[in-house]
Amino acid sequence: MDSQLNLFSLKEQRAEVRDQKSEEQKISSPISNPPSPQIKYNSLEEAKSAAMKCTKCILCKGRTNVVFSDGPENSKIMIIGEGPGENEDLQGLPFVGRAGQFLDKIFASVNLNRKEHLYICNIVKCRPPDNRAPEEAEAKACSEYLQAQIKYIDPKIVILAGAVAVKGILKMKDAKITKIRGQWIESKDPLLAGRKIMPILHPSYLLRHEWNKAPDSPKAMMWKDVQEIRRAFDSLLLT
Ligand code: SF4
Repeated sequence: MDSQLNLFSLKEQRAEVRDQKSEEQKISSPISNPPSPQIKYNSLEEAKSAAMKCTKCILCKGRTNVVFSDGPENSKIMIIGEGPGENEDLQGLPFVGRAGQFLDKIFASVNLNRKEHLYICNIVKCRPPDNRAPEEAEAKACSEYLQAQIKYIDPKIVILAGAVAVKGILKMKDAKITKIRGQWIESKDPLLAGRKIMPILHPSYLLRHEWNKAPDSPKAMMWKDVQEIRRAFDSLLLT
């Protein structure tokens, strides 16, 4: 893990990437989504309170904890993942297992962290059995909580970690995450309009793939993407 992180901090990579915006990052892909339904909750606290005792889908049966979120509620960046795994279920916090720790290191490489900058949540708040992907009906049942999170956190930047998050938020069922990652995507969904939305590779994908310096390696892609996210965050600070 440490050697992987060290690769991120190589100065020559930082210099190489800082001055170039990838072609993908210049692409804007307007997506027309069905309008979001009205937000069911009057506050984030109300949504969280409902989620904590929710039995709207079968995932409630296997959970130890409802995993609602981590990070400050005034964050400008929201990271949305897929669903809790074993460690997350046990601790009641998102992205705290091996992949989550790796995500922390990726963002720490550009001085962003969940204590100050990142609000982290998932498409579903309860752990799917055997770490399977959430089913469409489960994601739909849970969407009222995520919609409330987006409305009340009001992030300017929304990062979708992995294909399940892309499918759940942008309804891009056939999009390949390796093709659309790193792009700023526009959505006409009223809840998402005006926010900068970027898919990134899921950190567990990175952990599963060999790390090397090739420009098209998962590591190099993630390095480009996290640099671009940092640039977007910096530009928010100037406005
Ligand atoms: S996953 Fe979401 S909808 Fe399903 S029981 Fe948990 S909180 Fe409720």
